[in-house]
Amino acid sequence: MAGKPRSGCEALRVVARCRPMSRREEAAGYERVLELDVKLGQVSIRNPRAAPGELPKTFTFDAVYDASSKQADLYDETVRPLIDSVLQGFNGTVFAYGQTGTGKTYTMQGAWAEPEKRGIIPSAFEHIFTHISRSQNQQYLVRASYLEIYQEEIRDLLAKDQSKKLELKENPETGVYIKDLSSFVTKNVKEIEHVMNLGSQTRSVGSTNMNEHSSRSHAIFLITIECSETGPDGEEHIRVGKLNLVDLAGSERQSKMGAQGERPKEASKINLSLSALGNVISALVDGRSTHIPYRDSKLTRLLQDSLGGNAKTIMVATLGPASHSYDESLSTLRFANRAKNIKNKPRVNEDPKDTLLREFQEEIVRLKAQLEKRGMLGKKRRRSSRRKKAMDGEGTVDNEGEDENEDGLEKNMENYLKEQKERLEEEKAAIQDDHSLVSEEKQKLLQEKEKMIEDLRKEQEATELLAIKYKAMESKLLIGGRTIVDHTNEQQKMLELRRQEIAEQKRREREMQQEMLLRDEETMELRETYTSLQQEVEIKTKKLKKLYAKLQAVKAEIQDQHDEYIRVRQDLEEAQNEQTRELKLKYLIIENFIPPEEKNKIMNRLYFDGDEDQWKFQPLVPTEG
Ligand code: ADP
Ligand code: MG
Repeated sequence: MAGKPRSGCEALRVVARCRPMSRREEAAGYERVLELDVKLGQVSIRNPRAAPGELPKTFTFDAVYDASSKQADLYDETVRPLIDSVLQGFNGTVFAYGQTGTGKTYTMQGAWAEPEKRGIIPSAFEHIFTHISRSQNQQYLVRASYLEIYQEEIRDLLAKDQSKKLELKENPETGVYIKDLSSFVTKNVKEIEHVMNLGSQTRSVGSTNMNEHSSRSHAIFLITIECSETGPDGEEHIRVGKLNLVDLAGSERQSKMGAQGERPKEASKINLSLSALGNVISALVDGRSTHIPYRDSKLTRLLQDSLGGNAKTIMVATLGPASHSYDESLSTLRFANRAKNIKNKPRVNEDPKDTLLREFQEEIVRLKAQLEKRGMLGKKRRRSSRRKKAMDGEGTVDNEGEDENEDGLEKNMENYLKEQKERLEEEKAAIQDDHSLVSEEKQKLLQEKEKMIEDLRKEQEATELLAIKYKAMESKLLIGGRTIVDHTNEQQKMLELRRQEIAEQKRREREMQQEMLLRDEETMELRETYTSLQQEVEIKTKKLKKLYAKLQAVKAEIQDQHDEYIRVRQDLEEAQNEQTRELKLKYLIIENFIPPEEKNKIMNRLYFDGDEDQWKFQPLVPTEG
């Protein structure tokens, strides 16, 4: 790790992925309007209603993945480096953005049962725990949360009580967080997969129409990785990486869809979080905006760091290839193109306050001390600790020879208790046999001994509980090679490495190609000396043609932007009209059915809490006297 930059400015990585034509699209005979140039990292989109001479529009991204791309291609080339960074203590975010049905969920989750089709989330699980199992002299704590934002309400998908709505809070030190969000410490892939499945089940159970629901809600799977390691200064340091895996709501415009008949629960069909995301991105890349409207939605507040802040971020823009999704695909490409210009400032989160890992370590030390006081930790352990301390100086939590210790622990407890019990039984027998005692006295003494045996049993139970707790806590701190073992063989490891090298090489090649293309355009303008008039005409004609094409593209772009602007404005007007109508209804009810003095009382007590974006009641002031 030495020598790697620990902070700096870097752009959002944006990649595009196009799914294959679906059977339905093929049957309906839709044309293909998308072309992907994987080598160059470009997507071209052709307007199916194009006027003659209208050229396709081309967008360049960090990488593009066509219909034949494998899940592993995307992971190895684009996502793997990000997860590696998270394991080093950076924050990381992956967004999947695109129209419903273009492969966001396929990209993020994929098909679990088939290893080839596993998406980013399950691949990240494997990656994280394999990395830990191969680590040395590091201690890890991994935990996961799963939440959903639906109609601007946050739902904890892992909580028992699903009716509870969670609130966003802000901490001046650590930023925005969700109060009371549950999280589970996971020790291996199986456990974290279980957490994921639990949340996915909750998600589908809570909705009557899963398709509609998932297309309107944002799902965020959150993994926090804490790692402690002794630094070059001999001190122990903790780094914390947070990973957000985000399956966004469908980006399509909603006004055409939606249930008919019943009055919508939302005042507007606009997905506030999604439009706020767009606004935040626009403001970030605008250059003139001083205000970035993070606070306009739950999603943008929660992921503030991922957009222009302390995180490394990837956006996967998913696309459908067929002509019927032209408008949506173009709008997705535009969105992604804008996001490319966001600059983040990621840094390693070192030694933040209040890490769970530290809490665990302290608790383990405390439990250990308690067990030692009860004489429950063996001599072996003490000897091995002393040896270690002598070797590396003071203070680190000792994990040498852990297996021995745990066996030792049980043995010691057993021996101790057996001895004590035997001693008490012997004493009991001695009392029985002692003929010098009066029977009353004997009875009393025997009862005393009985009580002592009973106390001993209780003590044993308490110690056992303590030992169980101690073991459970210690097992949650993961140590490579010991608590978590890598089962891949050398050959597989080599293969893995090769795959990663190839991915890296592909990435570099593409970057070079893109750079060459840029330079080509620049040099064309510089070549100003000509050997003959003929040549000059030729070159200038070529240049003119190229510039003319560019001009046409820019003109088309302006027209498209204008059209989109009008669409968005219409949406907003529609939303405003609906809200006004809603407001009128509420006024009607208030004015006609609530006595004015009651209304005034209520109004006087209400205030707006900006932090929680809620109206609240002031507490009733107790009347004096
Ligand atoms: P979204 O989550 O964006 O609404 P889905 O992930 O549910 O879209 O994908 C819609 C359908 O397309 C699913 O049946 C999925 O299996 C299929 N699909 C999406 N992307 C791909 C891909 N890259 N390769 C093969 N099938 C895909
Ligand atoms: Mg989906």
